[in-house]
Amino acid sequence: MTANPLTVHCSFLPIVANCSAAAHSSGSRIRIADAEDAADLGIAVHVVSKEIVAVGDRPENLAEYASEYSCSENELGVLTWYALQFWKEHGNLFSFPRTEVELGYDVIGQPVRIVGTTDVMSIESAIFGILLDWKSGRMGEETVKEQVMGYATCLAAEHMLSEVSAIVAWLRDQTYQRWTWRAEELFDWVAELARKVIQEPDHFNLGTWCRFCPRFLECPAQRDLLMTTATAIQATGVSALSPQTLAGLYPRVQSLERIIKAYRGQVRAAVEQLGSIETDDGYVLSLQSRILRELDPVKAWPVMETLLGGEPERMAKCVKISMPKLVAEVKASAARGQKKLVQLELEAALEAAKAITLKEQQALRWAAKEKEDEQD
Ligand code: SF4
Repeated sequence: MTANPLTVHCSFLPIVANCSAAAHSSGSRIRIADAEDAADLGIAVHVVSKEIVAVGDRPENLAEYASEYSCSENELGVLTWYALQFWKEHGNLFSFPRTEVELGYDVIGQPVRIVGTTDVMSIESAIFGILLDWKSGRMGEETVKEQVMGYATCLAAEHMLSEVSAIVAWLRDQTYQRWTWRAEELFDWVAELARKVIQEPDHFNLGTWCRFCPRFLECPAQRDLLMTTATAIQATGVSALSPQTLAGLYPRVQSLERIIKAYRGQVRAAVEQLGSIETDDGYVLSLQSRILRELDPVKAWPVMETLLGGEPERMAKCVKISMPKLVAEVKASAARGQKKLVQLELEAALEAAKAITLKEQQALRWAAKEKEDEQD
């Protein structure tokens, strides 16, 4: 093994396959709240899925997992439901399942080490192994093939296998992808990737993969792109831009928003730590407190009822009922094994009372044209 090889995590291989400069990250990270929230849900999904593999069933107390990892119980339930269905149907492909196994491989001839933790793996014979990766994102929004190729390469090397299969279970889409590679294919692929990483450290290649890049906030190519984006918008004026130009700028502006979000998180953390910060031009950035009035719903309810004469229409103007919280509360008091049933009964009762109306929400979505065509 080479002393101090460049370590590349398998989860970054899809990015590195597009941009060799991404492998040369300083490792410094800035917290971006949305990404961290998604990560909390992802961790909870993996913990529950590990249980599914271990005992063949999903734990009943999902609320405890949701609370421990600060994520939505509803989403956790939806995602792990498919993990359970997948395992019931395909778990027999994994005769000797081991979960969360750390893997590593020193690329022959290059000072690069790839490392990663596979969610599930099983060595089926002296020549064949299989692995599984749970994904809580959407298929098509993330490229994962190179990530599991990385795990497969490590598995082939560590167990001297001739062939490895990898499955990615897309829990949100309730589907899965499977690939099988010969060991030589994997070793050739990773050797070429490592060669590029070492020989082309300044090869910056911008693309949709940048939003997941560990180097995103320190990337010179991103910096140049964002400068030109801001200039394009400011110089011309947004209202003067054609629809095509506006659409073309969309992913760049999203990048700009990410940077600004990261900046806000960082500057707030600095002020929280230091109290206040004086700038060279005589300003002070500090945290200012505002006192907000909060109503205790249990104590406010009888007061409201009295003053509004108990009229549902008037009281409804003052309260908002959260469907996920209502479902969670009803399920919390249900007996073990009855939770799904009481949820269905609640939904049926709400339907019968005509309490549910469907509202369409629209959000901008950026995707390659073929994917739009696939959906039509
Ligand atoms: S952010 Fe920079 S280093 Fe990362 S993938 Fe994009 S161009 Fe490459």
